[in-house]
Amino acid sequence: MTPPDTSGLEAALRAEVDGEVRFDAGSRGAYATDGSNYRQVPIGVVVPRTVEAGARAVSVCARFDAPVLSRGGGTSLAGQSTNTAVVIDWSKYCTGVLSVDPERRTCVVEPGIVLDELNRHLARHRLQFGPKPSTHSHCALGGMIGNNSCGASAQAYGKTVDNIRRLEILTYDGQRAWVGPTPPDERARIVAGGGRLAENVWINCAFSTVFAPFEEITAEEFERVTAVTYLGFVNGTRSALKRMLPRDRGTIVQVGSALGERSIPLQSAYCGAKHAINGFTSSVRTELLHRGSNVRVTVAQMPAVNTPQFQWVRSRLSKHPMPVPPIYQPEVAARGVLYAADHPGRKQYYVGASTVATIWANRFVPALLDRYLARTGFDSQQTDSVPPAGLDNLFEPVDRTPADDQGAHGAFDDGSHARSWQETLVRHPAATALGAGAAALGVARGLRRLTSRNP
Ligand SMILES: Cc1cc2nc3c(=O)[nH]c(=O)nc-3n(C[C@H](O)[C@H](O)[C@H](O)COP(=O)(O)OP(=O)(O)OC[C@H]3O[C@@H](n4cnc5c(N)ncnc54)[C@H](O)[C@@H]3O)c2cc1C
Repeated sequence: MTPPDTSGLEAALRAEVDGEVRFDAGSRGAYATDGSNYRQVPIGVVVPRTVEAGARAVSVCARFDAPVLSRGGGTSLAGQSTNTAVVIDWSKYCTGVLSVDPERRTCVVEPGIVLDELNRHLARHRLQFGPKPSTHSHCALGGMIGNNSCGASAQAYGKTVDNIRRLEILTYDGQRAWVGPTPPDERARIVAGGGRLAENVWINCAFSTVFAPFEEITAEEFERVTAVTYLGFVNGTRSALKRMLPRDRGTIVQVGSALGERSIPLQSAYCGAKHAINGFTSSVRTELLHRGSNVRVTVAQMPAVNTPQFQWVRSRLSKHPMPVPPIYQPEVAARGVLYAADHPGRKQYYVGASTVATIWANRFVPALLDRYLARTGFDSQQTDSVPPAGLDNLFEPVDRTPADDQGAHGAFDDGSHARSWQETLVRHPAATALGAGAAALGVARGLRRLTSRNP
């Protein structure tokens, strides 16, 4: 989108930004391509002399309603660094290494520094930034972060995302903030400060579980699962509302589960807590509606997700626990939560076709589902391999240090869906209702077939 007042924009950038402002045809042509086959002629190019000047350029562009595009080495292979936008090239001047902490093995750099340059600098401390794309001699750290670059050494050192501790971000409307793990006192300070940073969406998703028949779960374990999985949401919601109600804005997303509407065997504590979340949230929602509040609360009901939980939940099963197929990758779940956060008007969202099918089948044929799950629910939650030995996370976290971090994916990458057709349908409620009906009919038919074979 070209802004209506390009010459006004150019003049303002020249007047206000410390850097090169290039709107001539030659410069625009030079920045029209990157490492890909795509070509998009930019509106203009800004080469800021400092990070502050880059931030200033963004705020001028925002004033003129002009899109912006950051650029490092411009070696992207899928057109990521070309667009009809004002290109901000960080790679010429914003190349500093601001600090190195050899003991903690961290450094702070400006976004335009080229990877080989950084590694030359770090070599004197016998350190290097691990991920090394083939373009290491001219790709920049900002671009590596944008693309989550890897390269052959990522097998040993992880991808770029695994090597970033904190990031200073700049939003289009001029907000600058450091993001990353935030200690409680710093968080309290941010929240007390109010403004954009304190506003935020609040997402409740804490949980723990015990895989075992009910009579094998102790009272203490049951209480713990309930405290984390149910009261975690209750207290999280309380905390969020304390901040959101006085400002009369904000969104709370409860990460629910299909198991909050349809319980399965071997997870009585978890299913009970997930049901309770639905009841609790409906109650809070009616209270918000009653007082005409602009605070929104919505639930994203999840399918089985391939997270590391199955390696570290407490389990008394004879085999390794697993999610009930179909299993979805965590990215499907994350996109669902993000969509719910952006569209909090609806009471709930179903993520994954299996969630839709399960919930609707339970509405139509709950007793049939009881019998189906009694027959299949024990085996479908266990693999053929032996269970993991050692620690579980019921009372203590097992990923205490960044080195223990297991990431978002569990052990079931092979059988997990990276996309869900229902994800697209969820944006179109009429189509969702049709899809849900069809899926529920499909499940009901399958159940009938199965139950008719049941003696
Ligand atoms: C021949 C060739 C080989 C390659 N080999 C590999 C490889 O082995 N492994 C690999 O992972 N990739 C590889 N790539 C892809 C690419 O080189 C890497 O992703 C590289 O790290 C991108 O860095 P860059 O500085 O060129 O990013 P750019 O292309 O400049 O930018 C990448 C993205 O990041 C954004 N961005 C840039 N700077 C900032 C900033 N400061 N703030 C916010 N966003 C920003 C851009 O808008 C864009 O979306 C290869 C590419 C080529 C052409």
